[in-house]
Amino acid sequence: MEQILQKIIDDNRQYTEYGNVATYIPELRKASKNDLGICVVDMDNNIYEAGNCGKKFTIQSVSKPITLALALMDNGKDKVFSKVGMEPSGDPFNSIMKLETSKPSIPYNPMINAGAIMITSMIKGKNNADKLNRMMNFFKNLSGNENLSINEEVYMSEKLTGDRNRAMAYFLRSEGVLTENVEDVLDLYFKQCSIEVTVRDLARIGVNLAYQGVDMLTGKRLMDEEVSKIVKTFMVTCGMYDASGEYAISVGIPSKSGVGGGIMGTVPSKMGIGVFGPSLDEKGNSIAGIKVMESISEKLNLSIF
Ligand code: GLN
Repeated sequence: MEQILQKIIDDNRQYTEYGNVATYIPELRKASKNDLGICVVDMDNNIYEAGNCGKKFTIQSVSKPITLALALMDNGKDKVFSKVGMEPSGDPFNSIMKLETSKPSIPYNPMINAGAIMITSMIKGKNNADKLNRMMNFFKNLSGNENLSINEEVYMSEKLTGDRNRAMAYFLRSEGVLTENVEDVLDLYFKQCSIEVTVRDLARIGVNLAYQGVDMLTGKRLMDEEVSKIVKTFMVTCGMYDASGEYAISVGIPSKSGVGGGIMGTVPSKMGIGVFGPSLDEKGNSIAGIKVMESISEKLNLSIF
């Protein structure tokens, strides 16, 4: 397996030349464009890695399915889906457009920024510190990594420049959809996006999702089976934003991308996959990362379709 992964990295490294690292969050400019790494964790807890697999990067939107799972367990699905829809938007991840025209005025789905901010506002806790603590513990349990922490520079960078997200959140509040304090919600959302991970962390979360929400290492249930099913379905329909359809055809693995360059894949009953390549296409997905996912899906016959 390690040899297969090494070959996949070697074959696809050339694609890191294309695209650009994210710059709209200034701190993300510092990423090294040519990095490319992969980790696979299978159902027997074997770990296989290749490329720049030790590199840390911020989780960004790969966090969205995870906070969705927590919000579903905190509130139940009726409440959650009264505030966020279930349909692909067909628009970029940071689009504002449909918020005003859709009736009711709720975000299309939990994988675009507006929907994810709504989801973050539904995490339960006594105060913001308590909510962050619950959220971090959930990420730590799912990744099996107690040392997960927030990259303070990226967090500050997002907080200082996140006016588009701020605009969406205030709009949702003006509509009475978001009812919490907007700045508190955004602070939590920016922190959630700034959690630092490696491909191994993503692969571990992926394998636990593949295992229907049961932690492979401890046998403990971390989320209800139904919740893990909902989360994986959103990864298929909306996980790669407005490239989700094409990706479902070319890769066919429930996945979630982030502008830090990460992609998390979950292959039901088989494995979790973490990929990192910070150079992005115009939709905000890792170019070489998608190529790597295409290669592994083809070589190991992983498409769920
Ligand atoms: N933190 C980023 C933002 O809110 C996440 C976006 C992404 O990864 N696509 O803009």
